Amino acid sequence: YHPVKLPTSPGIVNCYGGAESTSVSVGVRVRPLSSREQSSAEMRSVVDVVGNNIKLTTDSGTVHCFTYDHCFWSLDDKHPLYASQEAVYNALAQPLLEKAYEGYNTCLFAYGQTGSGKSYTDLLSRADYLHSQNPPEDQLPQCRAEVELSYIEIYNERIYDLLSSGGSGSDRREALRVREHPKDGPYVEGVAHHLVSSYDHLQTWLMLGNKERSIAATGVNDKSSRSHAVFTIKLTQMQVEDVEGEHLESSKVSIINLVDLAGSERVAAAQSQGDRLKEGVCINKSLLTLGKVITALAESEGRRRPFIPYRESVLTYLLKESLGGNSRTAMIATVSPCNVYLEETLSTLRYAQQARMIIFERGGRTP
Ligand code: ADP
Ligand code: MG
Repeated sequence: YHPVKLPTSPGIVNCYGGAESTSVSVGVRVRPLSSREQSSAEMRSVVDVVGNNIKLTTDSGTVHCFTYDHCFWSLDDKHPLYASQEAVYNALAQPLLEKAYEGYNTCLFAYGQTGSGKSYTDLLSRADYLHSQNPPEDQLPQCRAEVELSYIEIYNERIYDLLSSGGSGSDRREALRVREHPKDGPYVEGVAHHLVSSYDHLQTWLMLGNKERSIAATGVNDKSSRSHAVFTIKLTQMQVEDVEGEHLESSKVSIINLVDLAGSERVAAAQSQGDRLKEGVCINKSLLTLGKVITALAESEGRRRPFIPYRESVLTYLLKESLGGNSRTAMIATVSPCNVYLEETLSTLRYAQQARMIIFERGGRTP
């Protein structure tokens, strides 16, 4: 990001971002103050949304202003920029799903501090689209879409299946490996794939996996998620055409990855010890590497064979094809408006700003 210092009263205003058009669409959603935060005399909101800008005011009066593709306000539903679940879905998820139908791989990240609203921002909330898009059977050219899903979590740099057919107790869970297909890229070996026939069916699997996801207490939040979850939808569109007496079949495959990243809070802030510390380090390793990959991609524009450190963490390795190349990516960054989380919020906003700077090469394989 490029800070521009403008001396205005009352404090200094730092501006980041701007109107550059970028490949990664980034939205920031500000959650409301919780009732506990509202009732505390020391806690107040330090975040404001003005158009596509988020403004954050520090105690010393410095204003940090970040520009994104979308800003969503949810502090107060009377605010003119108040954004419903549907508005967030329409701005970030819907365009990606449309790209998936065109044959692109797509990836949607949720990034932010634990308790800032990553899970609340249920990005598949209106994905009934996935099935309703199928044209009627008798229509020509005949087209049929097949939706298959898998759901994994990455915990301590290990991959676990959240939907393995046998069901699992967390102690007996077996870690899976990433393998790399010469053409299709990295995939999880042995992960269970489930064919779904309706949107409700898809939601059922998603809920089942969420239940399975590892949750434990840390200093920040009672129920903080300390793993990254990757929900993968494989969309296969099959088309059958009879051209001049010849029976032609073709198919188009695209992958949609929804990634609920672990909480972005720092290890120290979480008062971590022992196992928790190890988790913290591993969570940070994936988040850190994701940051490095995002930065490297942002800086690689124009270079022919830039080094991108995908293999430094499981998450980035697995998402290699979704982060670079023939893909469309979006990120929803969620933040708390509360003054006590100012540092964390600032760090989330910077990370999200960096993601916006990625420019993909568009010359590669087209679907
Ligand atoms: P995370 O997944 O980032 O840890 P959650 O999505 O679980 O955080 O949100 C934490 C709490 O804040 C939940 O009780 C949730 O209902 C509430 N919350 C988060 N975002 C919003 C929002 N935009 N509007 C209303 N409540 C929200
Ligand atoms: Mg969550």
